[in-house]
Amino acid sequence: MKMRSYYLGELAWPDVEAFLTQHDVIVIPVGSCEQHGPHLPIDTDAFDAFWLSKKAAERAECVLVAPPINYGVSMHHMDFPGTVSLSPPTLEQLAYEIAISLIKHGFKKIVFENAHGGNTPALLAAAQRIKAENPKVFVAVDSVNLIPDYIEKEIETVYDAHSGEFETSTTLANREEHVVKERIAKPQIRFPPCKYTKMGLKERGPKVSWAFRIKEISSTGVVGDPTKASKEKGEEAWKLTIERLADLLKELDKMEL
Ligand SMILES: [Zn+2]
Repeated sequence: MKMRSYYLGELAWPDVEAFLTQHDVIVIPVGSCEQHGPHLPIDTDAFDAFWLSKKAAERAECVLVAPPINYGVSMHHMDFPGTVSLSPPTLEQLAYEIAISLIKHGFKKIVFENAHGGNTPALLAAAQRIKAENPKVFVAVDSVNLIPDYIEKEIETVYDAHSGEFETSTTLANREEHVVKERIAKPQIRFPPCKYTKMGLKERGPKVSWAFRIKEISSTGVVGDPTKASKEKGEEAWKLTIERLADLLKELDKMEL
């Protein structure tokens, strides 16, 4: 359905009412307000989640995007100034209440489009509660899970996790003017304490989930190698992510519950 805007915040209630006669999918972007090394903006995850969601919705033409959650669970980044953190139960409750309001109006398929790994456990907990209380809805959480093939092929740094090769590339591609290029540097990394405590988008093999503070691992807050970043890598990553998210949203639009 062609809309003036696919962002709920720019529509009026009769637009939403008309949309709901034909469609039932909504994307809730979730970000963070946390340090992104000396060279990337603090709102990187919040900006990216909203930007990506709107691009995919404009392409799919069958979903709306809710106003984003711009704060997340960032306790492990609190050693760096500018970081603001919610506790996991607060994010869980916020995500839950936003979804429940949208469900009351007739949305039946909810996608939390999440740009920050630290939010994933709280969002999955919210998703479980939403589903348990509303058996006839579909809830999904995407935390950069749509392009594993691209990451495997194009990202060289195995331990790349935060403000490194991947995230510096994606920010060069969508907000180059906010990248402080002269501060891009490979950090001193103190690797996690044992062979089962691995981190990074490309890490495979036996591992446990563990609690850490970023400062224990990296002096600058960067985990990865941003000197390997490029605008081209970022443009390719965004192109593929937008295509796949739009495709997922179109699938959900057609899906029978
Ligand atoms: Zn980030």
